[in-house]
Amino acid sequence: MAEKHVYYFGNGKADGNATMKETLGGKGANLAEMTNIGIPVPAGFTITTDVCVYYNDTNNQYPPGLKDQVEDALKKVEKAMGAKYGCTENPLLVSCRSGARESMPGMMDTVLNIGLNEDTVNALAKQANDERFAWDSYRRFIQMYGDVVMQLPLTSDGEDRFELILEEHREKAGVHYDHELTVDQLKAIVDDYKKVVKDTLGKEFPTDPMEQLWGAIGAVFGSWSNDRAVVYRRQYNIPHEWGTATNVQAMAFGNLGDDCATGVGLTRDCSMGDPGFCGDYLINAQGEDVVAGIRVPKRIETQLEDDMPEAYKQLDDIAKKLEKHYKDVQDIEFTVQRGKVWLLQTRNAKRTGFAAVRIAVDLVEEGLIDEKEAVGNKRRIPADDLNQLLQPIFDPAVKKAAQDEGRHMTTGINAGPGAATGQIVLSAEKAEAMFNEDNDVALMLVRKETSPEDLRGMRVSKGILTAQGGASSHAALVSRQMGKACVVGADELSINYADKTVSAGDKVLKEGDWITIDGFTGEVFEGKIDTSPSEVMRVLEGKMKPEESETYQRYAKLMSWADEHRKLKVRANCEPGDVAEEAVAFGCEGVGLCRTEHMFFDKVEAMRKMILAEDLETRKKAVDEILPHQREDFESLFRTMAGRPVTIRLLDPPLHEFLSDRHLEEEPGLDKKLAEMTGKSVEDIHRRVAELEELNPMLGHRGCRLGVVYPEITAMQARAIFEAACNVKADGIDVHPEVMIPLVGFLSEYRNQEKIVREQADAVFEEKNTNIEYMVGTMIEIPRAALCADEIAQGAEFFSFGTNDLTQTTLGMSRDDYGTFIPYYKENDIVPADPFQTVDQDGVGKLMKIGVEGGRSTRGDLKIGICGEHGGDPASVMFCHTIGLDYVSCSPRRIPIARLAAAQIALTSK
Ligand code: ADP
Ligand code: MG
Ligand code: MG
Repeated sequence: MAEKHVYYFGNGKADGNATMKETLGGKGANLAEMTNIGIPVPAGFTITTDVCVYYNDTNNQYPPGLKDQVEDALKKVEKAMGAKYGCTENPLLVSCRSGARESMPGMMDTVLNIGLNEDTVNALAKQANDERFAWDSYRRFIQMYGDVVMQLPLTSDGEDRFELILEEHREKAGVHYDHELTVDQLKAIVDDYKKVVKDTLGKEFPTDPMEQLWGAIGAVFGSWSNDRAVVYRRQYNIPHEWGTATNVQAMAFGNLGDDCATGVGLTRDCSMGDPGFCGDYLINAQGEDVVAGIRVPKRIETQLEDDMPEAYKQLDDIAKKLEKHYKDVQDIEFTVQRGKVWLLQTRNAKRTGFAAVRIAVDLVEEGLIDEKEAVGNKRRIPADDLNQLLQPIFDPAVKKAAQDEGRHMTTGINAGPGAATGQIVLSAEKAEAMFNEDNDVALMLVRKETSPEDLRGMRVSKGILTAQGGASSHAALVSRQMGKACVVGADELSINYADKTVSAGDKVLKEGDWITIDGFTGEVFEGKIDTSPSEVMRVLEGKMKPEESETYQRYAKLMSWADEHRKLKVRANCEPGDVAEEAVAFGCEGVGLCRTEHMFFDKVEAMRKMILAEDLETRKKAVDEILPHQREDFESLFRTMAGRPVTIRLLDPPLHEFLSDRHLEEEPGLDKKLAEMTGKSVEDIHRRVAELEELNPMLGHRGCRLGVVYPEITAMQARAIFEAACNVKADGIDVHPEVMIPLVGFLSEYRNQEKIVREQADAVFEEKNTNIEYMVGTMIEIPRAALCADEIAQGAEFFSFGTNDLTQTTLGMSRDDYGTFIPYYKENDIVPADPFQTVDQDGVGKLMKIGVEGGRSTRGDLKIGICGEHGGDPASVMFCHTIGLDYVSCSPRRIPIARLAAAQIALTSK
């Protein structure tokens, strides 16, 4: 571990800078950076993340030398601020703040006003010439330190003891807000606070400033391991090994009177991305007050300039300077002390998918970044977030109707764009329980305000509605990050946790009733409201003109930049019909997987005849009944794809999916019908059905194993494909069929099927007197195929990784059964992610690499793709690029995401 544990910043010079997030955490690195570029920041120092790791590994010990380094740095802070820590004439107060490499808003601890005791509080009062301010600060300090460091337990009713005391005094004084309390009242509260600490914990509240400081430092390091921080890291894939830094910083006071304020701002809106400085502030208040939503904050964009013109100007200049310097939207914390602005934090702001797209495009147009940075930096637009632009919204007409019916309840602040309808649930616990019972339940988490404890409930809800808090409140911040619809600060709502009601005016809803929010406008309606497609979707479907939608235009611009830079092609997993048209609208470059089973299900009677037939002749006749139907489907798909390559997979599922005991049970008389149809006895039918039953169908008679045993199925399918191709070509449309053989493990299996396919092709071309270029290839979806890829490539002209089955067979984990244990695995960090969502790179990924290398060692230009569901997962797409695949194939809705992810990896890897 490094010798230097402490990094000072102050008076325009800092030991660290913005590149040192690993060591200093995001907050510390940016405090240093802001200091270096001349932005006013109260002096302070950062204790490194290494110390946190040491502290947590050694059962709360500090590395040798730390104490001296802290004391030295504290002296420098004293000098910079012209005050002395613990001094009874001119006391310096500090805050002690957590800050990890990646921001984890509100998950860890911070203590303000450290250094106060009976002596320093009086000195502070004299020095500031404001007794009320000094006692307000002291009152806040005991409360924060008592909660965070001393961990004063809640009452048996789950109430915070300090809050109870505060409430009691407010009531006694007949005031609504804390800032209305007098000096004497504050002094009485301080006494009661100290008493409750003594009575509950059996020890005195510490008076020694150095003891206070070290207590706070230890608590901040310890808060890295608290429950909510651990849960948060798991959700956002932040490694537990990182640790947090601790920042000790001179206090700037926002509670010194009406020329003081504290606030949080965004250098532009992060909900929709509109330009302009915005956010929340409170006059005469301290940091936490704004986020906690205790008082309804004022809006920077509409009120600050009138309230404090000087401060507004300073802030606006700082905001511009920061955006220019960081080349991205900043989320800042500031305090105005007697007219002077101090910056306490800056970081790249979290934003919704809408805002991410708008901001990236705007920054390019403003000349701050170039196109490559706009699409290539996955932190600017996480590919998954594009999804938000495709999500349904409320149809204005339907909303108007709801309004006319008198269902509008209130309007709050639009904090997370999106349309959400759900059943009211008033606690995170209940929400989680309901979700665990039924994953499809639509919930709306309705709270006065949210706190980090509510995270689990927010995750399982469709939307979040709060009565308090502004655009930077916890609820707003987290919902933006989760991409959930959210309305905050709907202060006309009255929420009664005890009676389980939510009311506005004369409308009273109960927990379980339906409620609707429009996160674009902030409107709240009672009952359900149906949604309609998003603007982007409407343009793509030709129902709206591109020039009518700015959102679409930005989306299209971004996609064109992505397409310019990506190496991977993106295809669709789709069948003929509407979905195929949608895939084209989303920009697919072909079909990577057309499943054919639905065509058999549509003709299930013929299929059943085939299954029941005992001789080849009858079987062939039955199968041929399906042929015209298949041909028609393929024709339609070829036409829609207009010259793009189309990969068609031959029949894959086990036969009992067409005929099993379940079918006979569910359809009384089916056995008799089948008997009549085939001229067999009912007993024979039942015997044949019993034969088809499999103990482990996933590993049973399916995939190419069907075609090997029943070659007439393969022949029929191949004929349908080639006849369709010839018909479409005859109409002057280009066709590129790629016939894909599923579940191959042996070259001999492949050869067996390939022969049938090619015979049919030759026959059809001869009949039609034409010729079409086509390919035959295979899926790589069982480990043997990957291991023997060099051999299989002697036959196969292309590979497509079927990572759904490859994951099942490599992990020996059935996708239909893993639901019982995988949530537990994730919660206990046994697997980093769901292997069916994100390719297990170490295991399945290794097989894929072997497959690619083997295949290309035999056939240098072998075309290789992926058609498992992983093809639409950004991390997996990036992996596919890295191992040299030619294309990914995914469901149509994921195509834009895959296009962007492919550009991001192409622009960031060598
Ligand atoms: P979080 O990471 O939860 O935002 P912070 O450490 O940023 O925690 O602090 C919480 C609040 O206290 C913020 O509003 C911050 O601006 C304020 N704060 C922290 N340190 C100081 C300080 N030295 N002077 C004034 N306000 C501070
Ligand atoms: Mg902060
Ligand atoms: Mg498969």
